[in-house]
Amino acid sequence: MAHNVTLIPGDGIGPEVASAAKRVVDASGAGINWHIVEAGESQMAEFGTPLPQRVLDSVRADGVALKGPITTPVGAGFRSVNVALRKEFDLYANVRPTRTFEGVPGRYENVNLVVVRENTEDLYAGIEHMIGSDAAESIKLITRSGSERIARYAFDYALKNGRKKVTCVHKANIMKCTDGLFLEVCRGVAAEYPQIEFEDKIVDACCMQLVQHPETFDVLVLPNLYGDIVSDLCAGLVGGLGLAPSANIGRQAAIFEAVHGSAPKHAGRNDANPTALILSAVMMLRHLGENTAADRIERAVLELLAGGRLVTYDLGGELGTSEFADAVIDKMNA
Ligand code: NAD
Repeated sequence: MAHNVTLIPGDGIGPEVASAAKRVVDASGAGINWHIVEAGESQMAEFGTPLPQRVLDSVRADGVALKGPITTPVGAGFRSVNVALRKEFDLYANVRPTRTFEGVPGRYENVNLVVVRENTEDLYAGIEHMIGSDAAESIKLITRSGSERIARYAFDYALKNGRKKVTCVHKANIMKCTDGLFLEVCRGVAAEYPQIEFEDKIVDACCMQLVQHPETFDVLVLPNLYGDIVSDLCAGLVGGLGLAPSANIGRQAAIFEAVHGSAPKHAGRNDANPTALILSAVMMLRHLGENTAADRIERAVLELLAGGRLVTYDLGGELGTSEFADAVIDKMNA
């Protein structure tokens, strides 16, 4: 049976990497009915919003979306479409796996960890305002229910995926109420999963250990802001943003996207690495139960990366975005 999936190409390098990922998925044998809808600045003139209602309607109807990156203006301008989508569909779990890839040069071996980031609360709740013109205030919102569902997601993920340890990352020594609550709830949930080891680390110490011994981490669970920052750090451990996939999971919908942004400098040059979005599509296919298609794509990508030659500029190669997609498709069909 075919699956209905919304495709949001995005802007910047988005349309190029989205087209590459779509072609790879179409060649994998997974039956997908794509509904392509546009979001971002290009929609402002016609709809007065970067996130038109028809995008929301399509994601709501399909329940699953693959999304290219969307530019967010810095400082003034419209609020992040990415954050708005996560809020609209209550996509509370942001799952970002990081692993070393054979053939991709890096400083580390044997990195294989997963960042599980709370995706709806914390300083990203957007509760901020000016106090006069010379001060500004932002509220860090952490709730017991929000912390509990992400902690439970992290432990269930660990169980389902044969993982051994969950690390709660926080700054509860300083933010005793907010991060203190997050840690307290994680400890409580951990007690229900005696088969999974549990530890907690202060975020600054955790960052140091991640760059010294990333192989000691397994599943990390973090409030929103630390999760955002630490997951980019993790992408940098293993070859950069071009290789980092992610999933935003909620109870009504799931949106799969690369960790990277719209990389405006690379837009229209057909040189961005589409691997991150292709691997996000692999996560999407597993979510849809299309494991055979997911395995085919993943195997082809891993073989190409291991070869070290047929890769994009960021990995020292010369392939363009669409040529890399062609190479993945050729590998799948070989
Ligand atoms: P970015 O991730 O877009 O790019 C940073 C640098 O990383 C690029 O200049 C490029 O050198 C490299 N890079 C990123 N993706 C790559 C790829 N696929 N292949 C090869 N190299 C790649 O970060 P930024 O420049 O800080 O952000 C640009 C815009 O994207 C901003 O408006 C930001 O708000 C937005 N953004 C969107 C999302 C999203 O849609 N989920 C995520 C992050 C940033």
